[in-house]
Parts: sequence; structure tokens; C-alpha cells
Amino acid sequence: MILNKKEIIRILSDERREQQLWQKANKVRQENVGDDVHLRGLIEFSNICRNNCMYCGIRKDNKTICRYRMSEEELISTAEKAAQMGFKTIVMQSGEDMYYNKERLCRIIEKIKKFDVAITLSIGERTYEEYKAFREAGADRYLMRIETTDKDLYHKLDPNMSWQHRYECLLMIKELGYELGSGIMVGLPEQSIESIADDLLFLKDISVDMAGIGPFIPHPQTPLAKETGGTLELSLRTMAVMRLLMPDINIPATTAMESLHPQGRIKALQAGANVVMPNVNSVEYMKLYELYPHKPTQGFSQSDIVKKIESIGRCIGKGYGAHQRKN
Ligand code: SAM
Repeated sequence: MILNKKEIIRILSDERREQQLWQKANKVRQENVGDDVHLRGLIEFSNICRNNCMYCGIRKDNKTICRYRMSEEELISTAEKAAQMGFKTIVMQSGEDMYYNKERLCRIIEKIKKFDVAITLSIGERTYEEYKAFREAGADRYLMRIETTDKDLYHKLDPNMSWQHRYECLLMIKELGYELGSGIMVGLPEQSIESIADDLLFLKDISVDMAGIGPFIPHPQTPLAKETGGTLELSLRTMAVMRLLMPDINIPATTAMESLHPQGRIKALQAGANVVMPNVNSVEYMKLYELYPHKPTQGFSQSDIVKKIESIGRCIGKGYGAHQRKN
């Protein structure tokens, strides 16, 4: 669907008609990507990060958290267990932890590929050479949110980082033939509806294969502790408009939505989403990868996510769940 900035702003601002918007996005989702929900096994393998993003609980200057880094063997065996559980995609996510250099990561990717899974990397900004090597080692997808397209806001929130550089990383990733995932946070301090509309148009413009949209949730051990944060409703409206703009892409029901409401991910699946990324780490690691408070810490095997998905008439996708372009 073609929507201009003015129309997007109008839809995002229209709280009264959000139910209709969610229904419409749900219909567009069904017509374009069907009823399958693709599960991705998420492994958060290190909470060590060289960056100091003002919003993030694992920022470098948060000295109150206990840092961990999985060993190579542990990461590979966690991926193997996830593959045995039936996951066809493994998402490897971490802070920007440079211990995981090119050689190490390539070795790991090659080993995990033997489990017959698609691999998504979500490890932040790297060099072209590294992205190329990871791709050649077998990585299929890359997930890196632009966070916001308001450059001034970005530079306030991500000190010592460059919006332009992050954008260029996304272009490199795309050029190397990865499926590209990006996204934003909703409800950042000083973020306007106009700016969210720009974000959505940006994601369409760079032709993402996957768009992750989640509320910003203030973390008590960060400089943004006292901010209000985003609402589930505006996040769902933003996600629904994304579905209207890009009918055939993959859109996850994000964990941050579940942190704001026990049925957050189910609501998202009924408002345009078609992907869920259950965490396959142990509960101990999940607690330490605290990007924001109230992040669910229930392991996949203990969670009833599959039952919940089936209870709303959806089925679990059996394949790798790659983006199938329709136009
Ligand atoms: N280091 C990698 C990167 O930069 O893409 C991946 C890890 S990073 C922690 C994953 C995402 O968590 C970020 O892109 C950001 O959108 C989200 N995040 C961090 N802090 C958050 C918060 N307080 N509320 C909601 N989302 C948050």
C-alpha cells in the first residue's frame, strides 16, 4: 500500500480507530504471508558491549550488571539444542563484544550451519570485511535496528556513534546479499509522531526484509531511567502501518511488547506480525541480558507460546521462513 507521510501521521495519531487499523493489518498479513508464524530461536550469547546507548540496560557504563560471555562451545551446543527442538532459524545476538572477532565468529557460523538452520546475526556495527566473511561462512540474515531516523535524537541517545555509519552498515549488509532486518524503538524521549512516520518510510525505502518495532522501556540503571517510555498501543499502530506499507515482509511480535502486557506478542500477531523469537538461553543468562526491565525470562520449553499461537488459529511455520518477495 502506498501511504505518504501525512497519511501515516494521521493513522498513527488516530487512537479511536486503532482496532480497525489492527484488523486491516491482520488481513493484509493473512493475504500476503499467510497464517504461518515463524519461530526463531534467539541466543543472547554475550551481554558485553563497547557502546553506551543511553536507553540500553547492557550499556558499557552500567556497572551494576554481571557480565557474561558464552564460550564458543556453549554457543554452538545451545544452537544445536535449539535445532533439535525444531527451530529452523537461529538468531545470534549480543552487545558489541569484540572478543567475538571475525575468525571466531566464522568458525561458529560454519559449525552451526551444519545443524540445517538459517542464521541471523545481530551483533551490531562491524567492518565490510567482517560482514563479508560472516556471509561467506554461511550467515543468511542480519538484524540491526536504525533505532530512529531523527539524526539529532540518535546522536543524543547513542553517544560516540554515528547515524550515518549505522546506515552505511545497513547498506553494506544489503549489498552482501543478507536478508536485512532493521527497525526502531517507539516512545523514545523527544521522538515525535512525524519522526516515527519518517522511520517507517525509511524502512520501506531501504527495502528491509524484516522490520522489528518495539516500545522503548526505560531501564532503571540508565540515564533515561525517569523517562516515560513507549506504549503498547502506539507500538502496535506503528507495526500495523509497517505491514500496510510492506505487505510481504517478516514482522516480529517483539519481546518488548510482551514486557508491557502479558498478551503483547499475541496482540502483535493479530495486528500484522508473523514472527516470534523465543529465547532459548538458560534463565540465568536471560536475567543478565536485561536490555529493559520486565523482560520475560521464561525459557521456550516452559512457555506456552506455541499453544497461544495455535489458540488464535495460526500455525507454526515449518520452513526457514525467509522473506518471500511478492513484488
Ligand atoms: N548490539 C546489537 C545492535 O546494536 O544491533 C544487538 C543488541 S541491541 C541490545 C538490540 C536492540 O535492543 C537495540 O537495537 C534496541 O532497539 C533494543 N533496546 C535496547 N534497550 C532498549 C530499551 N530500553 N527498550 C527497548 N528496546 C531496547
